[in-house]
Amino acid sequence: MPKNKIQFQKGLSLPDFIAKYGTEQQCQEHLFRLRWPSGFVCPRCHSKQYSKLSTRPLYQCKKCKYQSSLISNTIFASTKLPLTVWFLAIYYLTQSKKGISSLNLSRILGISANASLRLKHKLQQVMKNEDDAHPLTGNIQIDDAYWGGKKHDGVRGRGATGKTPFIAAVSTNNAGHPIHMRLSRLSSFSSEEIRSWALNHLHNCQTVLSDGLRGFTGIKKAGFNHISITTGGGYQSTQIEAFTWINTILGNVKRFLHGTYHAISSKHLPRYLAEFCYRFNRRFHLEYMPAALIRAAVNSKPIPQHKLQRAEDWW
Ligand SMILES: [Zn+2]
Repeated sequence: MPKNKIQFQKGLSLPDFIAKYGTEQQCQEHLFRLRWPSGFVCPRCHSKQYSKLSTRPLYQCKKCKYQSSLISNTIFASTKLPLTVWFLAIYYLTQSKKGISSLNLSRILGISANASLRLKHKLQQVMKNEDDAHPLTGNIQIDDAYWGGKKHDGVRGRGATGKTPFIAAVSTNNAGHPIHMRLSRLSSFSSEEIRSWALNHLHNCQTVLSDGLRGFTGIKKAGFNHISITTGGGYQSTQIEAFTWINTILGNVKRFLHGTYHAISSKHLPRYLAEFCYRFNRRFHLEYMPAALIRAAVNSKPIPQHKLQRAEDWW
């Protein structure tokens, strides 16, 4: 039997990662190269002459004395954590197939549970923004799904209370293999909500395949070629070949959410779904995932605290 090429691919080893990003200076130099790939340019006077402050990661323009922070206007803005901690978190988030809880991360990184949760939510948001910027293309399978509530018996919860609805979509290539996936929380499965989702997350699709849920008519309203297969719901619907990938993926994401995290509030669900998608969408590039997420984090705008975390903590 041939080896599974995803499972057996070379990742980035922890020693290799530490050799590259193990010191604060290495991390700062890496950030510097990402922010100013052609060399430092003063944002105020465009001079290229600068000096680095020894106490903080600040770069001072020699001409106008303006001080540029290495982390301002990035996801790392105003952090009190060393960059080595952030980079290591990025390593664990991208290299562990099943994800890592913020509590586990706090132990590994030696930071408080709260700091770990904030850091993790910020990185999850970076993952979400990255994927949301690239709509799915090709042939698409979609399905409705629910998170939470009391039942975990695999019965789909249409109409059930206490559950958070989300839409699952997977793009497949012409050979029928899954390429990318998207999981998005919705407020309902109304036709209008799905139309709006489709406009944001689909582009240039050949076909969009779903079951007969009424709200999926929103796909056609958004201008896509929608094919609906009436399944009758329940166990039988999970056995239809056309829905193989979407059913497999939904099974995997639910195992991931239950396995790594004890309880996720509806409010934060989109970030956890995005974390799962981010790794799935880059599963052929495990070795390069940390560098890609570092780059994305540098290019991300800061997230203010009030947007990050409100009342609920769940660990
Ligand atoms: Zn200047």
